[in-house]
Amino acid sequence: MKAVVYGGPGTVRVDDVPEPKIDAPGDAVVKVSRTAICGSDLHLLHGKTPGMRDGGVIGHEFVGVVTDGPERFVGHRVLGSFLIACGSCDFCSRQKFNFCRNRRALGLGALTGDLDGAQAEYVRVPDAAVNLKPVPDGLDDEQALFAGDILATGFYAARICEIAPDDIVAIFGAGPVGLFTALAARRFSPERILLIDQDPERVRFARDVYDFEALDTSEMAPEAVVAGATDGRMATVAVDAVGAVGVVKSAMKVVRDGSRIAVVGVYGSERYELPMGVAWVRGIDLRFSGMANVQATWDEALDAIASDELDPTRAITHRLSLDDAVAGYELFESRQAMKVVLQP
Ligand code: NAD
Ligand code: ZN
Repeated sequence: MKAVVYGGPGTVRVDDVPEPKIDAPGDAVVKVSRTAICGSDLHLLHGKTPGMRDGGVIGHEFVGVVTDGPERFVGHRVLGSFLIACGSCDFCSRQKFNFCRNRRALGLGALTGDLDGAQAEYVRVPDAAVNLKPVPDGLDDEQALFAGDILATGFYAARICEIAPDDIVAIFGAGPVGLFTALAARRFSPERILLIDQDPERVRFARDVYDFEALDTSEMAPEAVVAGATDGRMATVAVDAVGAVGVVKSAMKVVRDGSRIAVVGVYGSERYELPMGVAWVRGIDLRFSGMANVQATWDEALDAIASDELDPTRAITHRLSLDDAVAGYELFESRQAMKVVLQP
C-alpha cells in the first residue's frame, strides 16, 4: 500500500510499504479515508522527535472504515486517537488516558511505541475499543477528523487552563492547535482571547476565518504587543501552542503575577534555564499538558461540532491526494497552508 514515510531529517516520501495486519487481540485495521498533517509531524520532519525510524509510516490524524478487528467495529466509520492508551491500567480507569502506563502514539517514533502511522491507505490501531470511536451520525469525515487530535488537544488545553470569565487568555501560536485552543477557550467566556503569532498570514487567518482578536509579533516583542492591546493589564492565562523555548519565556512576560501558563506545544531535548526566584515570587503556575487526553475530551469536541457551536473544517485550506503528500508537507511547513488534508 501507499504511505508517507520518514526519510531522515528534512525528508518525507510516499512509498510502497506492507499493509498492516492484526498483530494482537484488540487490534483493528482501518482503511483510511481522510488523514491530515499535524504540527507534530513537522517536529518529526525537523528531526526533533527522537527515535523515528527511517521508513517508518508517519501520521496520527485519521478517519476511515474498519476492515478487520473487533466484530462490533468492522464495517463502521471511525475516527482514531493519536494517543494510544491501553484502557485497563490504573490511569486509564481514572480517565487519565494521557498518563496510561502503556502509553503510545501513532506514527511518532520509538519513544512512543514505534507504531506505524495513518498517512497511509491502511493503519493498524491497537486496543481499538479505547482508541477508535464511531463517527457520530450526521458528521462527515472532515468534521470528525480533528477530534482525535488537535481539536481534542484544544479542549484539553482549555480545560487545564481553568479559564474563568474574568480571564484574559493569551495563546501563542495561531496554527491549528492555537486556533482550536481558542475555539475551546471561547466556551468558557473569558473576558478576552488574544491569539499571538509572528507570521502575519496566520494572524490574518485567525481574524478573517474565525473572527479572533489576533496580534502580530513579527515586528515587536510579545510583551509590548500584549501591553499595548490590554492597556498594560496583561494576560492572566497563557498557552504555548508552538513548542519553542522562546515562547515559554515570552509567556512568562505577558502574564500578570499569579497567572497560569499551559505548555501544550511539544518539546524534545530542548533545555530552558528557569529563573526560579522570579517564577516563585510572581507565583507563576506553569503547567505541562503532556499528550492531550484525547479519549477524555473527544465526546465534548464532537458534541460541539454536531451542535454547530464550532466548525473545525474552516481551518482546512488544502485537500490533496496522498500521492501529493510531499507537496502538502511543503505547504504546511512554509505556512502557506493552515491545515492539509490528504485522501489516500
Ligand atoms: P504549526 O507549526 O502549524 O503552528 C505553530 C504556530 O506557531 C505557527 O503559526 C508559527 O508561526 C507560530 N510561532 C512560531 N514561533 C512563534 C513565536 N515565537 N511566537 C508566536 N508564534 C510562533 O503547528 P500546530 O499544528 O498548530 O501545532 C502546534 C504545537 O502543538 C506543536 O508543537 C505540536 O507538536 C503541538 N501539539 C501538541 C499536542 C499535545 O498533545 N500536547 C497535540 C497536537 C499538537
Ligand atoms: Zn498531532
